[in-house]
Amino acid sequence: EVKKRGKNDYEFYSEELDVFLREKIVLEDDLRKAIERNELHIHYQPQISTAHNRITGVEALVRWNHPTKGEIQPGVFIPIAEEAGIIFEIGSWVLREACSQMRKWHDAGGPLIPVSVNLSSQQFHHLNLPKFIRQILEETGLKPEHLNLEITESMMMDATVSTTILQELSEYGVRFSLDDFGTGYSSLGYLRQFPIHKLKIDRSFITDITMNKHDQAIVATIISMANHLQLDVIAEGIETQEQLDILMSNDCKEIQGYYFSRPLPAAEVQELLFAHAKTEQTS
Ligand code: C2E
Ligand code: MG
Ligand code: MG
Ligand code: MG
Repeated sequence: EVKKRGKNDYEFYSEELDVFLREKIVLEDDLRKAIERNELHIHYQPQISTAHNRITGVEALVRWNHPTKGEIQPGVFIPIAEEAGIIFEIGSWVLREACSQMRKWHDAGGPLIPVSVNLSSQQFHHLNLPKFIRQILEETGLKPEHLNLEITESMMMDATVSTTILQELSEYGVRFSLDDFGTGYSSLGYLRQFPIHKLKIDRSFITDITMNKHDQAIVATIISMANHLQLDVIAEGIETQEQLDILMSNDCKEIQGYYFSRPLPAAEVQELLFAHAKTEQTS
């Protein structure tokens, strides 16, 4: 397709690329200052037990409120932060903020719930990751069992994730979930090799599940495998009652998705949590 283009198109393309690269450099620079300027915040998406329709935890999803560009999604700026080598700072901020938010909800009389935090592979290159996480948990008084770290299959493939670090954190009590499960170079050997507690079925298998028999079969297989391996399993990206019905008929015990709630600012999740706690007391 590229070959069909004329010379001028190439020039146009390279100009476009130039603009793109320059914009990226500017974003990189802005991102370095984002933490101290308080431009980062976290939205929390509830995770729901299908049997009780109860909030079992939340996933912390970082957002960037850029001073001129408005809200920028993590899909855009996390890869930039990784490339620019500033993901450790951002990741550390997210970890501390998310853990202290759980503590605040509990202190305000809410339930103590686990928080899931996404990790980048570069955060494993810092040898003091276990020490750092220990510090945050001590600071915030959150139990290690209430911190769920989300890693991906591809991170384990790259061998960037050290088994020693996972083991150390796992022995301390921190949990690990395998995010976007089924989309990486899944090798089931990893499930034995690494201390994984939960599989997170990727949204791409859920999107068309009501129509697509293959996706139904894959999801059923993942859930059954997880049960056999005594791993927890959660499905992400549930948007409709029909999708939920299929998951429940496959014995999926936990879900996350717009059907129940979008990722929300802390104050709004707090309302959900407290309303939940009340109905449970009265029922
Ligand atoms: P993820 O960890 O797989 O997170 C799930 C993404 O799916 C989130 O997008 C969430 O808003 C979206 N989602 C949840 N339910 C639904 C649904 O029902 N329908 C649809 N269409 N989407 C749904 P988000 O917040 O834009 O995050 C994108 C990705 O950015 C995350 O994917 C994660 O890989 C990464 N990310 C987010 N926060 C962090 C962070 O603090 N650190 C790192 N390293 N990565 C992060
Ligand atoms: Mg995740
Ligand atoms: Mg995911
Ligand atoms: Mg995903």
